[in-house]
Amino acid sequence: MSDSIKELTEKILAFRNARNWKQFHNPKDLAISISLEAAELLEIFQWSGADVAVDTDKKLEKVREELADVLIYAFLMGNDLGLDISEIVSSKIDANNKKYPVEKAYGKADKYTAYTEDEEKSE
Ligand SMILES: [Mg+2]
Repeated sequence: MSDSIKELTEKILAFRNARNWKQFHNPKDLAISISLEAAELLEIFQWSGADVAVDTDKKLEKVREELADVLIYAFLMGNDLGLDISEIVSSKIDANNKKYPVEKAYGKADKYTAYTEDEEKSE
């Protein structure tokens, strides 16, 4: 685990432990919390029509707060399940490199199945 991730995790755990909140943090409720905080992040853009950019300081501050909430719960879940955040993110990127080969995915927003279906059709 990288030093910065370890330090952040320790800071988050110190906050939680000082409040005796671990008792509330089972994997289900942490997963729910990640989803709820992600919804709060999405809410920033609700009804914004074509205004999809983060182009004001106020909007950026809201994004900052909700993104941090998502990450805090994610760090807690990783810690509680004994997962190394650096390792799981790195592994997922490696897997994504295979799912989305640059030569097929460059500049495209298709789901990976579009590329595997291409392979299946050519086989
Ligand atoms: Mg929030």
